[in-house]
Amino acid sequence: MDKEKTAIERLKLASDMSMKIYKQPLIVTTSGGKDSSVCVELARRAGIPIEVMHNHTTADAPETVYFIRREFKRLEGLGIKCTVNYATYKGKPTSMWALIPQKLMPPTRTARYCCEVLKEYGGEGRFIVTGVRWYESKKRENTRGVLEIPHRKENKRIILVNDNDEKRRLFETCQIKAKRVCNPIVDWTDNDVWDYINSEKIPVNPIYLEGWRRVGCIGCPLACSKGRMREFARWPKYKQLYVMAFERMLKEREKAGAKIDPAIGTTGEEIYHWWLEDGVLPGQMQFDDL
Ligand code: SF4
Repeated sequence: MDKEKTAIERLKLASDMSMKIYKQPLIVTTSGGKDSSVCVELARRAGIPIEVMHNHTTADAPETVYFIRREFKRLEGLGIKCTVNYATYKGKPTSMWALIPQKLMPPTRTARYCCEVLKEYGGEGRFIVTGVRWYESKKRENTRGVLEIPHRKENKRIILVNDNDEKRRLFETCQIKAKRVCNPIVDWTDNDVWDYINSEKIPVNPIYLEGWRRVGCIGCPLACSKGRMREFARWPKYKQLYVMAFERMLKEREKAGAKIDPAIGTTGEEIYHWWLEDGVLPGQMQFDDL
């Protein structure tokens, strides 16, 4: 498969740079999803030194947590260092359920504070590998590349959109020890990923075998309402965790004098329905329960 060869070349190039600039191996990040599993296997086949890292979001399905445990045991058996990161906020261990009352609002599409705290951290000052793909969204197509030096300011980012990008020399000679990113399968389609998984018999998260197309935080506000409703039907305990977190959030808002529009909801359950956008309005639950 040509795409496999190209991805391995990208990983080898990134590995050389990582050893030269950071004097440390590449870190392959894994969420427990299929794209990360493919990246781990490609890096292993590239024969380069790697470490593997997972951020425990606390909102992942139990199956994902068990899959990561099994995979890390397998990879450690192959001599690969594996690390699970546990998030902290304001210097203390945290979780999705602790964060919601602290932030005084549920995570939403426009305020996805949870990603910053629970998911997108780690690997600072290192060269990391992710399974980001252009095929996943239009936004990624316009903002992500084969190799990246991310920066808050757009004009300071270096993004190589293809393997022969004219900025490649700049990327290779840049000595800044900020985080760098390699996305070896950035140009793979869903079919490419599944064909590779099936032909190479790569172990994947068992959630896919139930027919789920995405693996990630249960109830993620970036997913569509119907998908989230299906997730809460499959993992009902997570609904309870959100409802309880929203209850605590309401108490914290009251203490802080931050009133909430009663049309949104006055209980954890009502806030949950508003947040899920499932069409259940405040007061309707009691009516439906009669
Ligand atoms: S719920 Fe969604 S937005 Fe929040 S950490 Fe998880 S993936 Fe990121």
